Amino acid sequence: MSNRIKTKQFQDLDSQHHLHPFTTHQSLRTEGPRVIVKGEGAYLYDSEGARILDGMAGLWTTNIGYGNKELAQAAYDQILELPFYNTFFKTTHPPVVALARKLAELAPANLNQVFFGSSGSESNDTAIRLIRHYWALKGEPKRRIIISRKNAYHGSTIASGSMGGMSHVHHHSYPVYEGFRHVMDPCWYDESFDGETPEAFGLRAARAIEDEILRFGPENVAAFAGEPVQGAGGVKIAPDSYWPEVQRIVDKYGILLLADEVITGFGRLGSWFASEYYGIRPNLITFAKAATSGYIPLSGVLVDDKIVDALMAENDDFNHGYTFSGHPVACAVALKNLEIMERERLVPRVKDETGPALARLLSRFKDHPIVGEVRSVGMMGAIELVADKKTRRRFADPGRVGLICRDHFFRGGFIMRAVFDTMVCAPPLIWTEAQFDEAGTAIQKALDQTLADVKGEVTA
Ligand code: PMP
Repeated sequence: MSNRIKTKQFQDLDSQHHLHPFTTHQSLRTEGPRVIVKGEGAYLYDSEGARILDGMAGLWTTNIGYGNKELAQAAYDQILELPFYNTFFKTTHPPVVALARKLAELAPANLNQVFFGSSGSESNDTAIRLIRHYWALKGEPKRRIIISRKNAYHGSTIASGSMGGMSHVHHHSYPVYEGFRHVMDPCWYDESFDGETPEAFGLRAARAIEDEILRFGPENVAAFAGEPVQGAGGVKIAPDSYWPEVQRIVDKYGILLLADEVITGFGRLGSWFASEYYGIRPNLITFAKAATSGYIPLSGVLVDDKIVDALMAENDDFNHGYTFSGHPVACAVALKNLEIMERERLVPRVKDETGPALARLLSRFKDHPIVGEVRSVGMMGAIELVADKKTRRRFADPGRVGLICRDHFFRGGFIMRAVFDTMVCAPPLIWTEAQFDEAGTAIQKALDQTLADVKGEVTA
């Protein structure tokens, strides 16, 4: 059977039975999905036999690349030994103990206990419950408000979606839970005033949190939650002045700090956690994705000793948990994944080699006629597509040109994601010079093709 016929069969079955996440189903059915059949190292292969360089690490996830046999072996061995047992009823098992210990070792010094789940959304739901429960245990039950930011993505369950700041997610998860407030995001390119320096802007963006705390009264505020770098919002990298000011503010009002490291955890910024990179001291870190390089679902919350002390002081149930909290196979795969990352020195390589290489790669395109800005930190980056470089004027109909560009990337055998008209990338941490070169050629070509498509709209 030809590749074309096989692809068509997959597409037909898909459209008959499969509802996709974050998708316009009508247009997906007209176009048919691309069928990915295999992954190897830095590359994916589709059902037509095309080789695709994956600039998104799956979805900010496959840090060690595809097709790793050691991870397959770790899963196989654990499935034979103990494929599943729960951790509810005063029970534990070796892989969950070993992984919790390892994570405590890698995490900031005050975070020594882990509550496991299977997705970033679940781990943020857990964090929300822990935060509110903590304040209740401390005798301050009125502290319920969690402040986060516009354009934040914290997941798609109703609680994590409410904590996130994306209005299109809120529209679909009505009613948004009470007690979540969203302040401006720290993206200088989009939000700064004319002539405002990144430093001054960073302080202003952080002080929006303080204003919100004062508006509601610190006695009602439980926590501030933020992604160290807003990923799904468009790789929004805060200026250097931002996070120290956020830390000052949360310390001043005694509120908890939740760092959502679902994307930034496990090396993306060149340190195990981005909290370390930005010098912040979160009371909770949520993680998922790259903990297992995405080979199997696993997530969790790393929890501050002071929150654990409050839990320990109470001789009662914490009524929360998931069947798959601490799943033995997922834990075994995570342990092997972290071992490989350490052995291959993938985290220091982001700091010294791959991160700087990504910055050099993107900076080659900053003068392109439709590029307003390029930015990156570690192994995540963005290219802003604009109609007018000088005024930062966007194209009409936000997202239209981003999709045109994304499709050119796809056809050219390269994956970058479009967040409206911001092209974002987060390659696996295993890229070498060959992949950076290949990406450079693909980006040049796709930007030129996009320019040709929208030339009439561009101010030279
Ligand atoms: N937090 C962040 C920062 C994320 O980027 C994501 C997913 N992209 C989530 C939470 C939710 O994770 P999941 O899709 O595994 O529920």
